[in-house]
Amino acid sequence: MKKELQDLHLETHVKIHTLLLLGGLIVTGIGGKISEFGRLHVVAWIGILLIVLSMLWRFLFIKCPHCGSKLYSVRELPEYCPDCGEKLV
Ligand SMILES: [Zn+2]
Repeated sequence: MKKELQDLHLETHVKIHTLLLLGGLIVTGIGGKISEFGRLHVVAWIGILLIVLSMLWRFLFIKCPHCGSKLYSVRELPEYCPDCGEKLV
């Protein structure tokens, strides 16, 4: 399972990460609105889970396919790897 995920294109990983993060933020927002004071609604927890998952995704899969250099600290995917100089996108 993890192997197949790792074989996905780097841009696909970035898209999945962004979708999880945006989805998580929206769901958390909705959950927050329907939560009672001092008690988080289960929807808000699902949103938080999605955000955590998106962070995990970033740490696990957003790296250079050539040298494995971690790219999670960059805001936007560079065209070339800052470490090995290979083309990324
Ligand atoms: Zn590299």
